[in-house]
Amino acid sequence: MYAVSSPNSQYVVAKFGGTSVANFESMNNCADIILANANVRVVVLSASAGVTNLLVALATGCDSDKRENYLKQIRDIQYAIIDRLNDVAVVREEIDRLLENIEMLSEAASLATSDALTDELVSHGEVMSTLLFVELLHQRNTDAEWFDIRRIMRTNDNFGQAEPDSLQLHTLAMENLHARLNNTIVITQGFIGKEEKGRTTTLGRGGSDYTAALLGEALGLQRVDIWTDVPGIYTTDPRVVPAAKRVEKIAFDEAAEMATFGAKILHPATLLPAVRCGIPVFVGSSKDPKTGGTVVCDKTKNPPLFRALALRRKQTLLTLHSLKMLHARGFLAEVFTLLLRHNISVDLISTSEVSIALTLDTTGSTSTNGSLLTNALLTELATLCRVEVEEDMALVAIIGNELSQAKGLGKRVFGVLESFNIRMISCGASSHNICLLVPGKDAEQVIQTLHQSLFES
Ligand code: ASP
Ligand code: MG
Repeated sequence: MYAVSSPNSQYVVAKFGGTSVANFESMNNCADIILANANVRVVVLSASAGVTNLLVALATGCDSDKRENYLKQIRDIQYAIIDRLNDVAVVREEIDRLLENIEMLSEAASLATSDALTDELVSHGEVMSTLLFVELLHQRNTDAEWFDIRRIMRTNDNFGQAEPDSLQLHTLAMENLHARLNNTIVITQGFIGKEEKGRTTTLGRGGSDYTAALLGEALGLQRVDIWTDVPGIYTTDPRVVPAAKRVEKIAFDEAAEMATFGAKILHPATLLPAVRCGIPVFVGSSKDPKTGGTVVCDKTKNPPLFRALALRRKQTLLTLHSLKMLHARGFLAEVFTLLLRHNISVDLISTSEVSIALTLDTTGSTSTNGSLLTNALLTELATLCRVEVEEDMALVAIIGNELSQAKGLGKRVFGVLESFNIRMISCGASSHNICLLVPGKDAEQVIQTLHQSLFES
């Protein structure tokens, strides 16, 4: 890690997500946003919405009918944008060449796929969206330059989840990108990079935010703007509580807590590069830039006791009972070793003299019902203890500041929840959250009740 003490440039990097560059109209909104702020000099784009998913599907290798269908969908998305531009012979040729490439790589993938091939294929989404966007800016008489991020984004070769080398990025960005910013707006790709041997890599799904934050850090920029389809971070999901309020400014720690507990809006780990060197990150909606958004920064003044409520559904509660636990040593170690062997990440824990209750973290899980419990795991656990399983629970997280120091919290939180069955409580480990496990069917009502009492009065 290199030390960048504070931003040294007045310039801003703006990132636009897939829905923001989904079609011609939304791309035009992005252009408006960029043109409204002369300091926006680096623009990071995702692939047009839907394209990455289609490319991922092609990369898994599919039969020719499916392949044709997916290719057509990608072509339709990109052509719908080209068709709205004027005089686009050159761009059309370039996009056609990329589409041909995609077809060729997809055929290869259906014979034998690999992680490297997948990344190569998937990277075409960002390459196409950036080419189209540069053309759109040119047609709006704006000076903009297409820049291949792979010239500077060096990563390891962990395809699909490659980790950038921020030291090299800093050096290369200063050499190849920094000076350009004085003369033009640079349009580049999020999500993709290049490993040592020159093969294309990707930084993990949703990786464009990470690209933007890394560039903010590498170039010492003033701010990172993340334009997405929601106007910032709210006290809770406005679909559950219409009275939810936008948080104007939030500390990185708090935003990270919110994301951990299921607030989908951004993944703060991806913002870490910006925040660790003191660059604020703005999050707003590209459809509605005038509404403003939320600023995520290192610290906020007078942080409130209660900041937000988050909800995570489909939680599984495991209760393990064993008399062996009584005054025993190593029982927890045995249980956790077993869980580790089954690749289970434990979320909440509470213990009593002869039992352990724990919930499983299903966030990275790809299983359709969100459950990580396998028969093999249950059988093995049963040799150690009696196991009870309760599915379809919901985790409600109350996120705030210095919660572990506050007086009267118990009454404020639990007083209003007297009509609910709270199955498990986790409190005290973090001064940033209190977690409650409730039956899934009660989750929304619990959130509504808590929101009203903690945020609306
Ligand atoms: N296009 C990539 C994805 O859909 C990266 C991104 O959008 O951030 O995951
Ligand atoms: Mg995205």
